[in-house]
Amino acid sequence: MAALLPYTADRETGRFFEAAAEGKLVFRACNACNHALHPPTAHCPYCQSWDTGWRESNGVGRLHAWTVVAHQIHPAFPAPYTLVVVELEDAPEVRLMGRLDGAPALHPGQRMQVWFEKLDDGAALPQWRPASEP
Ligand SMILES: [Zn+2]
Repeated sequence: MAALLPYTADRETGRFFEAAAEGKLVFRACNACNHALHPPTAHCPYCQSWDTGWRESNGVGRLHAWTVVAHQIHPAFPAPYTLVVVELEDAPEVRLMGRLDGAPALHPGQRMQVWFEKLDDGAALPQWRPASEP
């Protein structure tokens, strides 16, 4: 079975995957107006600046939404599994997807911690797991 890998060479999103392979979660932000830019873009649509860059997140988020997939649609992803949307604690306008095995008990606003799933060819994907409250 062919591996499912992210496209890591894109000039606007490539750094996201490069950082994930280094075990870091990053998001793009505007250096002029400080707005987080997600999906990542080189141009800020809020203030029209091209002065944007990458910032490292603390890797903690809050569960925004989730759904349990009960019917398998690809051999690489046995059902059931849970798709989650997590908003970053240090940049709530950035929401990232993740996948959990099975159908764990979750609740809205639950604290989540990033981890990095190692893929083929040295690539990695940020994933999420429930975290204890501080
Ligand atoms: Zn801006």
